[in-house]
Amino acid sequence: MNSLFRLILLTLLSGSLFAQGLQERLKVVTTINYLRYFAQEIGGNRVDAIALANPRQDPHYVTPTPTMNQITNRADLFVENGLSLDLWAKNVIDASGNPEIQPGTPGHLVATLNVPIKELPTEISRSWGDIHPQGNPHCWLDPINAKIIAENIAERLAKIDPAHAAYYQERLESFRDRIDASLFGEELLKIIGKKAGDILSRKARNNGLMEWLESKGLSSRLGGWMAQAKRLDGAKVISYHKTYVYLADRINLHIVGELEEKPGIPPPAKRRYAIVEQVRREQIKVILNDNFYSRDAADYVASKTGASVLITHIDVGAAEETDTYEKLISSLIESLVLALK
Ligand SMILES: [Zn+2]
Repeated sequence: MNSLFRLILLTLLSGSLFAQGLQERLKVVTTINYLRYFAQEIGGNRVDAIALANPRQDPHYVTPTPTMNQITNRADLFVENGLSLDLWAKNVIDASGNPEIQPGTPGHLVATLNVPIKELPTEISRSWGDIHPQGNPHCWLDPINAKIIAENIAERLAKIDPAHAAYYQERLESFRDRIDASLFGEELLKIIGKKAGDILSRKARNNGLMEWLESKGLSSRLGGWMAQAKRLDGAKVISYHKTYVYLADRINLHIVGELEEKPGIPPPAKRRYAIVEQVRREQIKVILNDNFYSRDAADYVASKTGASVLITHIDVGAAEETDTYEKLISSLIESLVLALK
């Protein structure tokens, strides 16, 4: 636990933050920090949001603590990613003694509701160490999915605090506009006009964005992350875990394999050899390794092939310079462009 996080927890525990004239604000507790960021952005000055997990740690495995239970005890809304990523949240909710945030009540939200999920298994099982039994849960790294998650949070805030529904809606729209501008560039949004973000997101979702822009003579007007990512077009990488499938699909990056044979199972020697062969065969230059996984296997493959290891973050605030969602995605794309040059 880093010292800043500890300080925040202590402050909350002492009750000072919630007690000093902030009683009227909604207390939102989230599992992961990107959800805290979204809830705070949508909730504005109506909400105090706090995340339970440290953004630098593995979100699949967080050990609930008494402090987490106490924070959650006073929550008006509990927000989790769901899809079995933050299963540990159940223990915190159970131990919180807070009836307002139990699953099935308005005070409990699975934020990824309605997000199209990839890698759905044919049967639900967490056997043999599989930590993605409900499909791939890392969906927030596609900015189009991030907008759906933000909508879910806004809708729920409006439900538990209807007096400020218009305020949440306004902040949601401004958040969506920011994501659209970061994704497609201001200029293109202005040219297309009303509902540009929705139109472009729909085209991108159906893998028809570039074709559509071409047909309208607008290809050169594309900006933002999508334009930046064109420099990655077709690049092949290996990743340690299946963390980046949503981002990769959005920016047309090809993740051709994972060091993990199955999500959650560290790669045995045989797997490392196989990946070394694949990296040589397909001339892969970069291996993505989340900051919370051991980099031993990636370093081994790099030492045998000359590929480079890129240490990556998946949560807002995992690095000082990525304290917003927009900075997190920018940093991922920029570091990929640099590494693949
Ligand atoms: Zn995972």
